Amino acid sequence: MRTLKVDWPACRARGLCFEVLPEVVRLDDWGYPVVEGPVTDDLLGSAREAVRMCPQLALRLVKG
Ligand code: SF4
Repeated sequence: MRTLKVDWPACRARGLCFEVLPEVVRLDDWGYPVVEGPVTDDLLGSAREAVRMCPQLALRLVKG
């Protein structure tokens, strides 16, 4: 199982991760991502895309 981790000082709340992976990420009232659960195998491709596309390089996919 993998989980998305956000580097909070780097994140600029642009919400691209939510657009790519709405199954796992929602946005709070300020537009910052809230990771709601683990990345299941069927979502791994989208999660990797979210990591690649984050303009701030603020996302990581970690085990556990
Ligand atoms: S795409 Fe990156 S910068 Fe944008 S909200 Fe998600 S983690 Fe933050």
